Amino acid sequence: MHHRRPDAGRGQGQWALGHREPLNPNERAKRDDDGLHCRARIESTYRHTGFDGIDPTDLRSRFRWWGLYTQRAPGIDGGRTAVLAPEELEDRYFMLRIRVDGGLLTTEQLRTIGTVSSRYARDSADLTDRQNVQLHWVRIEDVPDIWAAVEGVGLTTAEACGDTPRVILGSPVAGIAADEIIDGTPAIREIVRRFVGTEEFSNLPRKFKTAISGSPRQDVAHEIHDVAFVGVVHPEHGPGFDLWVGGGLSTNPMLAQRLGAWVPLSEVPDVWAGVVSIFRDFGYRRLRNRARLKFLVADWGVRRFREVLEQEYLHRPLLDGPAPVPATGARDHVGVHPQRDGRWYVGVNPTVGRVSGTVLTRLADLAEAHGSGRLRLTSDQGLVLLDIAADKLDSLTAGLAELGLSTTPSTFRRNMMACTGLEFCKLAIVETKARGIALVDELESRLGDLDVPLTINLNGCPNACARTQIADIGLKGMIVTTPAGEQVEGFQVHLGGGLGLDAGFGRKLRGQKLAGDDVADYVERVVRSFQAEREPGERFAQ
Ligand code: SF4
Repeated sequence: MHHRRPDAGRGQGQWALGHREPLNPNERAKRDDDGLHCRARIESTYRHTGFDGIDPTDLRSRFRWWGLYTQRAPGIDGGRTAVLAPEELEDRYFMLRIRVDGGLLTTEQLRTIGTVSSRYARDSADLTDRQNVQLHWVRIEDVPDIWAAVEGVGLTTAEACGDTPRVILGSPVAGIAADEIIDGTPAIREIVRRFVGTEEFSNLPRKFKTAISGSPRQDVAHEIHDVAFVGVVHPEHGPGFDLWVGGGLSTNPMLAQRLGAWVPLSEVPDVWAGVVSIFRDFGYRRLRNRARLKFLVADWGVRRFREVLEQEYLHRPLLDGPAPVPATGARDHVGVHPQRDGRWYVGVNPTVGRVSGTVLTRLADLAEAHGSGRLRLTSDQGLVLLDIAADKLDSLTAGLAELGLSTTPSTFRRNMMACTGLEFCKLAIVETKARGIALVDELESRLGDLDVPLTINLNGCPNACARTQIADIGLKGMIVTTPAGEQVEGFQVHLGGGLGLDAGFGRKLRGQKLAGDDVADYVERVVRSFQAEREPGERFAQ
């Protein structure tokens, strides 16, 4: 236990200050039984009793520690989301999230996910913007068999949701890109091996998001993570990582801040564990909406945060280091690109991340026939096939096109993201995935393509799972009133957000609320006025 700090967050439920008594129902559920323990009850009891035998606290809290959420019952419109009780909103089926740390996948693993989806999840599958795969329509009776299948190929659903260290994001081209600064994969594997699914960090104040990338493209959105390790070359010590803390979106968005410390690859797991430990011990547990690490970092400031990390957790100083050079080009990996070994990697972004078990299985077949059996998930709802020989590129791109996956998509198809939305999410106010797919089709037919990137992110509520505030056009789901006085699904517009050189949050345009049916007209107007007024070389974000 660490010494008391009378000036820091009194009464915020910080364990390190002696506030051990749970101050809200979520904290009580975690105190009463570790979230990870519900697995035994699923395997011994709930698989036999079915949905009706599930303890309510397991159902609505601890199940998340194994990647399980009840999905939204069909037919409940978004206007009723805020007024119904959780049990009125939920279906008897589950979303199951499979974490893919570092996005590292083999064709065997992908085929297994595809098969599980087809057999147990009505062929549903979404690639998320956090290197997870989400299945829907899962019955509790089938969960042990699903675990047996995915764990049999080295995948897991442990701590895929809940107040835990979530999937560790890694560069989709780690270890293969010609321009790589450093490969963070060994650190990702070590963190997962030592800490994921263990009780050391299974009771955090809130979710904890990690990103580790040594790509100069800065391809894991490090600015919006609780902790991030960003590839940088130290003038004396060579390639390593710059340490960032305290980023996050949702309703109080904050960009992560540099601690000014350089971390060599071998020390990343220990430094990571130090940061997570600070969060566990000093995080604000009283109010859920103040519990993310970003609030502690904002209150302490980076100097004090680094001091506590060094003195109380690592027991040694960290080396000072340089800032990474902000990435200027595309951060994604769509298209055909050279690897450093002379082979090629090929990236595709299924529209808004929506695929199916069948598509995943066929992708595994394609990757196996054309490459080495290695694939990666990306942090923008996409997928990369690795190790393709030059003479197989034509056949692979043709095979991908048959699956509706272009290697040269329009900027609209390439860059649009959508969260789960009203179809399955109990917090949603509006539909997102189907709307996003229709919107891409509509924009392509009206505008063709655009010669600069344009990110459009659709979110079903203020939680910003698809990053409302860092899109060129961020759309936050809400109920809006039409001029005729009708209440319909619509969006609040946030314009001009971005990461990298232009890192910043989009301006919330107060007056700019759109009915869902008007989104295509709005985007068309914005694009046409950009095209009419832009200076040579100007990008949309400027
Ligand atoms: Fe659900 Fe809201 Fe997240 Fe979309 S942004 S997935 S609606 S919580």
